[in-house]
Amino acid sequence: MSRYQEMNGGPGPSAGIVGAGIAGLACARRLARRGFRVTVVEKARGPGGRMSTRRTDRGAFDHGAQYFTARDSRFLAQLEEWRAAGVAAEWEARLVVYRGGERFDLNDGQKRFVGVPRMSAVTRHQAEGLNLRTGWPVARVEREPDGWRFHSLDRESLGPFDGAAIAVPAPQAGPLLSGNPTLAVQAEEVRMSSCWAVMAAYSDRLDLPFDAAFTESPLLPWLARNSSKPGRGGGGGGGGGGGGGDAEAWVLHASNAWSDEHIDAEPDWVIERLLGEFDRLTGGRTTPELVRAHRWRYALPSHLLGITHLWDGDLGIGACGDWCGGSRVEGAFLSGLELADQMTESMTG
Ligand SMILES: Cc1cc2nc3c(=O)[nH]c(=O)nc-3n(C[C@H](O)[C@H](O)[C@H](O)COP(=O)(O)OP(=O)(O)OC[C@H]3O[C@@H](n4cnc5c(N)ncnc54)[C@H](O)[C@@H]3O)c2cc1C
Repeated sequence: MSRYQEMNGGPGPSAGIVGAGIAGLACARRLARRGFRVTVVEKARGPGGRMSTRRTDRGAFDHGAQYFTARDSRFLAQLEEWRAAGVAAEWEARLVVYRGGERFDLNDGQKRFVGVPRMSAVTRHQAEGLNLRTGWPVARVEREPDGWRFHSLDRESLGPFDGAAIAVPAPQAGPLLSGNPTLAVQAEEVRMSSCWAVMAAYSDRLDLPFDAAFTESPLLPWLARNSSKPGRGGGGGGGGGGGGGDAEAWVLHASNAWSDEHIDAEPDWVIERLLGEFDRLTGGRTTPELVRAHRWRYALPSHLLGITHLWDGDLGIGACGDWCGGSRVEGAFLSGLELADQMTESMTG
């Protein structure tokens, strides 16, 4: 059986999934393996969501999720599969903490993993073989006599589907769950905060004796040498794919509070502020040869729903994501699995 048949050719019920982030893809693959006929619909040009990578002519930047950790046995098993496939590896970063004006090494024993050669390799691998429609923003999800249909503003609808899974950030999930107002309200109660990311490429090596830093700065709590991650083309000095031997790529993340406060700021102003803080913290004066800003409007949930997923078995609609039972990449993945398990039980039992 081909991978396509394995992932799409089942004789079981049909399922439509909105969102090709790690949660939607985890849900989709599990359902497909159980014989569901699965369609995943994604508004962006490719899968990945907040695990996407921004390509520039000075290399690629992981501008969303920086790394992921793994604790649950189901996620650990998935991680082993990714590592065997060569799409994930441990990032043995030299980590430091800036505290009280001083810098300390951080040796917390935590293993951190990344996609290889870029974060989006993981979600691309997850999407392989799935029936994935990209560039397709779902505007409405409606229950019709023959099942669920996904509508966009300007194309023919998709469906009907026996079951629907909404795997998008909570504020975007609410309107798509309007078929069940109780679920919609639950999603809408979860607030998500934003994050401004700045990506900076340098043609020369920066004289910084670490790969990533957690800081107490109310503006810039995280900075990372993207080019120190495995497979980016340089053990500590690589160019993130676009530069020469000494080129470096850095990712700076503003705090959620600062980002929320400056959500509508001009990108150039944000770049100036974050690079200024980077220089202040590291005591240098850096001049990147390329710099970009990206605004993640829904970056992290400010609180969790407290249950692994949402599901209405009578209507056949539910939701999953990092805002349900556990945050971050691992939490999103597990939420997708849990929803798939519940859909299987409810729709094939
Ligand atoms: C700046 C930043 C840093 C982070 N750092 C870390 C980290 O270091 N470690 C960690 O573990 N996690 C980190 N995270 C969190 C992690 O990225 C997320 O928890 C996880 O990727 C969420 O996955 P998801 O599938 O729930 O949602 P998403 O990845 O947001 O996927 C949802 C998908 O739905 C699509 N979509 C939305 N609306 C529609 C629509 N109407 N129609 C069609 N498609 C739609 C979106 O385009 C998106 O692709 C970070 C996130 C950000 C933004």
